[in-house]
Amino acid sequence: MRFDHVTLAQRVSFAPNGAQGKLAEEIGALGATRVMVIASPRDTETAHRIAADIEVAAWHHEVVMHVPVDVADRARTVAAEHGVDALVCIGGGSATGLAKAVALTTGIPIVAVPTTYAGSEATDVWGLTDNGTKTTGVDARVLPVAVVYDSSLTMSLPVDLSISSGLNALAHCVDALWGPRVDPIDTALASEAMRALRIGLSDVSAGRDQLLYGAYLAAVSFASTGSGLHHKICHVLGGMFDLPHAQTHAVVLPHVLAFNAPNAPDAAARVAAAFDTHDSVTGLVDLYRRLDAPRSLQELGMPRDGIPQATKAVLAVAPPSNPTPVTEQNITALLEAAWKGTDPS
Ligand code: NAD
Repeated sequence: MRFDHVTLAQRVSFAPNGAQGKLAEEIGALGATRVMVIASPRDTETAHRIAADIEVAAWHHEVVMHVPVDVADRARTVAAEHGVDALVCIGGGSATGLAKAVALTTGIPIVAVPTTYAGSEATDVWGLTDNGTKTTGVDARVLPVAVVYDSSLTMSLPVDLSISSGLNALAHCVDALWGPRVDPIDTALASEAMRALRIGLSDVSAGRDQLLYGAYLAAVSFASTGSGLHHKICHVLGGMFDLPHAQTHAVVLPHVLAFNAPNAPDAAARVAAAFDTHDSVTGLVDLYRRLDAPRSLQELGMPRDGIPQATKAVLAVAPPSNPTPVTEQNITALLEAAWKGTDPS
């Protein structure tokens, strides 16, 4: 029981059907009068409804996954031209990511209104993509000062995307169990996150509040522990083959769990307990079967001949503290299995 833990400071509100009022409260508390709202074209109508009670100086709708640097630059220019004093992002991790890119260079505070289970709103991690290479970093300025969770905003998320996004959240808390800086507080948060996400994923239509709650806790634990092997693998694959974010995490997770579980008995026991079963991998695979979740990297468009190159890149970034030591042979086997979509149990 000797450890240091940092709790990131932000106000978190859960307000089903209440985003409009909560957002106005948060902007009032900041004393902001020149707000920039970031929302993709798909979310324009929702954004106008939610922002009805605040003074908006600029609307910005150019939202692109993984935040290309030119997209970030254009958003920063708009913020500067309008003398913006607060950023509101309404949408998934891509909208949050763009707000973070603006905050990174300007220090303008962010209020986030998430509509997926990506969890970026609860971390101080930013990401930018330049020429196909994604760079990430940690900076206190990009942590939203407030988050407003309104489960009614996730109603429009299609079932398959709800499942992938929920499994992406599950990957945050499972990977946190063996993350490089894991401590007992992270483990407690991750365990509760897994329980909530399992309940939410069992019925994605009725379980949206549990999914948001679990996604938030999962992201908090993950932000504290840092990326484990799972996130290192997905980061390599996403960058190298331009694969969809949430689906890639969904496919890879059971394979990393099967890879680490034999050497991480406490983590495996916690996953098994969250799934109310004796074996963590079987519990997760059963959930995937029930959800008809994405299974293979092949179906996401990864070329099979990319496995050696990906293996090399994973070996270069795998955390030295990973419970199962990585080798060229075992990472190749893991990626082969994930590519084919074989049953890891
Ligand atoms: P996303 O924001 O791109 O959303 C995925 C798709 O869902 C988009 O087409 C979007 O328009 C649509 N969508 C979003 N909300 C919807 C809703 N309520 N109804 C219908 N459609 C909706 O993807 P994401 O998975 O939310 O986020 C992925 C991005 O977030 C990646 O770039 C990832 O790297 C980043 N991320 C960052 C962190 C961090 O800590 N920095 C953490 C997690 C994810």
